[in-house]
Parts: sequence; structure tokens; C-alpha cells
Amino acid sequence: MSGERRDVVIVGGGHNALVAATYLARAGLDVVVLERLDHVGGAAVSERPFDGFDARLSRFSYLVSLMPDELIADLGLRLELRSRPTASYTPYEGGGLLIETDEGEATRSSFRDLTGSDAEHEAWSAFYDDVARLARVVAPTLLHPLPHIADVRDHLDMTTWNDLVDEPIGAAIERRFSHDVVRGVVGTDALIGTFASLHDRSGVQNRCFLYHLVGNGTGEWRVPVGGMGAVTAELERVAREAGAQIRTGHTVDRIEVSADAMTVSGDGFELSAGHVLSGVAPYVLAGMLGGRRPARPSGAQLKVNLLVSRLPALKSGDDPAVAFAGTFHVNEAMSQLEEVHEAATRGSAPYASGELYCHTLTDRSILGPDLAETEAQTLTYFGLHTPYENLVDEGSGDEAYQQFLAALNEHLAEPIEPLILGVEHKTPAQVEAALAMPGGHIFHGDLAWPWLEEGERPHSPAERWGVATSHPRVMICGSGARRGGAVSGIAGHNAAHALLETLG
Ligand SMILES: Cc1cc2nc3c(=O)[nH]c(=O)nc-3n(C[C@H](O)[C@H](O)[C@H](O)COP(=O)(O)OP(=O)(O)OC[C@H]3O[C@@H](n4cnc5c(N)ncnc54)[C@H](O)[C@@H]3O)c2cc1C
Repeated sequence: MSGERRDVVIVGGGHNALVAATYLARAGLDVVVLERLDHVGGAAVSERPFDGFDARLSRFSYLVSLMPDELIADLGLRLELRSRPTASYTPYEGGGLLIETDEGEATRSSFRDLTGSDAEHEAWSAFYDDVARLARVVAPTLLHPLPHIADVRDHLDMTTWNDLVDEPIGAAIERRFSHDVVRGVVGTDALIGTFASLHDRSGVQNRCFLYHLVGNGTGEWRVPVGGMGAVTAELERVAREAGAQIRTGHTVDRIEVSADAMTVSGDGFELSAGHVLSGVAPYVLAGMLGGRRPARPSGAQLKVNLLVSRLPALKSGDDPAVAFAGTFHVNEAMSQLEEVHEAATRGSAPYASGELYCHTLTDRSILGPDLAETEAQTLTYFGLHTPYENLVDEGSGDEAYQQFLAALNEHLAEPIEPLILGVEHKTPAQVEAALAMPGGHIFHGDLAWPWLEEGERPHSPAERWGVATSHPRVMICGSGARRGGAVSGIAGHNAAHALLETLG
């Protein structure tokens, strides 16, 4: 054991921890990051999972929206986030609903083909104008202390507030759209990383929806050139350059609290620190502190990574290079989302429901030169409503994968199987095992509104920034912080700023 003492020990080396470490080290603090794996980045990493193929896939998280451009500039990250020409494509019997990132005539006529008129596209435009208004109010607050709910609400009309915040979002979707497929395309953003009905009274799906639509005030999901590993590599570079120490292979078991210092220990190491930042889930942190644990989070997604020899042809006859360039919805009409959710609550799965996208249509740099010259493409699938508890038995992940293949094949002019060069899939339990995300919950726990609720009065910098724990010397710098969910760096930035404010 060493008697080493640091200003700040950061537990867990996810991307958020690296952001926090950079800010604190730049402020002159002596910072060490302890990561259990042999590499940093947590769920923001790239791997070569397929033997014999030089394809470096974003293994878990894959698109970036919530990382503020301001943060990227402030940290000096050499990062390219590239727009996808297609926002989404939803195949249906006899066609496909195409929504371009910059909506034009192709989008309008696609709505017309599906619904028979322009009314649904007009409803779409009006709805997303309202969403954009909320996004433009929320986005500039994310790197500052939490705004009060009234500071956000007062900028919006009551209809927008009611539809997006007060009422379960399923009600607004049903009121404002009439077509099941369109309703589903809107609704999926409320369900990525959240197991809920669109009508859930808790509003957890509304919070998820908000996080998916506020990034940089536009809600656009962009492709990190080089894959997610490139994001982490840049964060690691700036953290090291700032002087932060990073120690991999260090699993923290225990954090002991005394009046003026903390002791952080694991197998073969012990460090004391003035402050601890936690980049691990609040549930994991509570175990380290020996306190009462919050409810155990439970994730509900199936992640599949594929390398295919070429894109499959679509039954609709549409160009697969257009359809797969954006979010390709599979069985995500609203009625299907609700049916699959309802079945999953009873432990069953009638069919797969989720979304796919092809990284290599936007960025081929993740393929080695030989593979890049072929027609090979990567496909990544994020399956919804596959709760942890339903997929713990051996073979249940394989079954869910087979269901995904069957669901995808429904929309293809040829089966996908002969095109597959490499495949890996992960249930929530497998995500948990790989990343120590409890329950495989991709956000470390359910998301919270990014503002102070009525009657909430923060008393400390940590509470003002939404990074507080029950102990004043421990702050959350990971996804479990208020405003922490997703690959954003926001939690890391905010915890660092709360700590610097605390230290005066
Ligand atoms: C399958 C999947 C797909 C996703 N897709 C997207 C997406 O496309 N876009 C997006 O924005 N977000 C996505 N997310 C969510 C996003 O990846 C997370 O919200 C984000 O990575 C959280 O970052 P973090 O730094 O807070 O924590 P993490 O990435 O969870 O990192 C925490 C780190 O702590 C380490 N750790 C845990 N326990 C200990 C311990 N005892 N001692 C030391 N170290 C420990 C872990 O090994 C890990 O490296 C996805 C997540 C998953 C799982």
C-alpha cells in the first residue's frame, strides 16, 4: 500500500472522467484517474471485434449529439463530427418513409406517399419547431449551474410545455400525428435507453426524448469520424497534456470518508485525496461508500454490431445507401413500440423493435485500406424493450439476435445472413459485465430533467451544478449526474466546475 495523497481522485475512466480530469489539472490540481479496465473511455470506445477483418467499430455508443461544440472548442479536441445526409428511414409494406437531415422535397413526397397528403408533414414540421424552441432554451444552460424550471418554462408557450414536459409524450404524439408509422418515428427518441410506455405517467420517456433532441440546440446526431474511440483518444490526449495521471487496471472497491480527506482503495493500492469525483454509476458509488444503495438500474437494449460484405437490397426498391445512412427504424410504429413494451413487461418478446445505422456510409476511415476498397459496410443495431431481466438466461441473447435478423429480413429483398462477415451482440447483462454499468443501463440510471424543480433549493456548488452526493467531498462526474446521460462530457465539465467553485 502507498501513502500517496492527491488533490483529487477520479473513480472510473469513462469519457466524462477524462473531461473532469482535464479541467481540474488545467486549474493546477493534482489529479489521478483510476480505471478498472486496461483502457479508458467506458462506453465510448472502438474495438476490432472481428478476427481477420480490420474494422474498428464503435462497440457501444456510436453517435454524438449532446457534446456541446463549446466544450469541444474549450478542450481543444481535434474531432470531426460529420452530418449524415439521411436523418431516418422507416420501411413499411410497399415503401419507406425517408426523412432527410436537411428536409426537402424528397422528405415531403415521402410523407405524401405514406399518408396520402401533406398534413402529416406539416404536423411534423410544427411539432419539431416546438421541440427546437425548447432545445434552444435548454442547450445553452447545460454547461452552467442548473437553471430553475421557471427560467426554462417562461420562454415557452404552454402548449409546448404541456406536450413535451407535463404530459406523457404519448398523448401529444397521438394528438398531433395521425399515422402510426410517423407517431413511432417521433416516439423512438423517447425510448432509446429507457424502458417505458410512451404513456408512462412518470415522464421518464419525456426526459429521454428531451435529451435526444436538445444537443447543441439542434438535436442532430452526428458521426464521430474515426469512431467513438477517436473521441476518447482526444479526451485522453488533452487530459494527459494537462497533467492528469491515468492509471488503468485499478478497480476501486472502497471509498472511506473522514472529516478532511477521503481514502480510495482497491486490490493492492490506496490513495488519499481531498476530494473524490465519481465517474461510475451512483449505484456503484453507493456500494463503494458503504451506504444505502439506490434502486438498481435496469437497462433494456440489445446492441448488435455487424460487418457485412455489402448493403442488402430493400424490398421497397429504395437505395440502401440512402436508407441505411441515417437511423433505419425496424418495427417502430407506435403501436409496435407499445405492443413490444407491454409484452416485455410480461417477460415475452413477440418480435424485435429497434434501429440500425451504417457508420461506414458516412466515414470509411474505421476500415483498414484493403477492406475500405471493398463494398463492406458496418451496421449497428440498438434494440428497444429488451430488459435485463428478460435476457439473463444462457442463449437469450442469441434468440433476441435471431429475432432482430427476422425483423430486418422482413424489409429486405434478400436475406441479410449470407452478407454477414462478422457479428457480435450484447444484452444489458453483457454490457454490465463489460463496463460495470449496473443493470447494463446505458445512462447509469434514469435521466432527470435538466433544471431545478419547483421548491428545489441548492445549497452548495455541487447541488447548483447537479453533481452532488450525500457526501460534500464526493461529486458525480459521470452519466449519473443531472444532465449526465450520453456521450457529452457535460457531467465531467460540471463536476470539475463545481469542485473548483467549492475550492474557491
Ligand atoms: C450499447 C450502448 C449504446 C450507446 N449509444 C450511445 C450513443 O450512440 N450516443 C450517446 O451519446 N450515448 C450512447 N450511450 C450512452 C453513453 O455511452 C453513456 O451515457 C456514456 O458512455 C457515459 O459515460 P461516462 O464517462 O459517464 O461513464 P462510462 O462510459 O460508463 O465509464 C465509466 C467507467 O468507469 C469504470 N469503472 C466502473 N467501475 C469501476 C471501479 N470499481 N473502479 C474503477 N473503474 C470503474 C468503467 O470500466 C468505465 O470505464 C450508449 C451506451 C451503451 C451501453
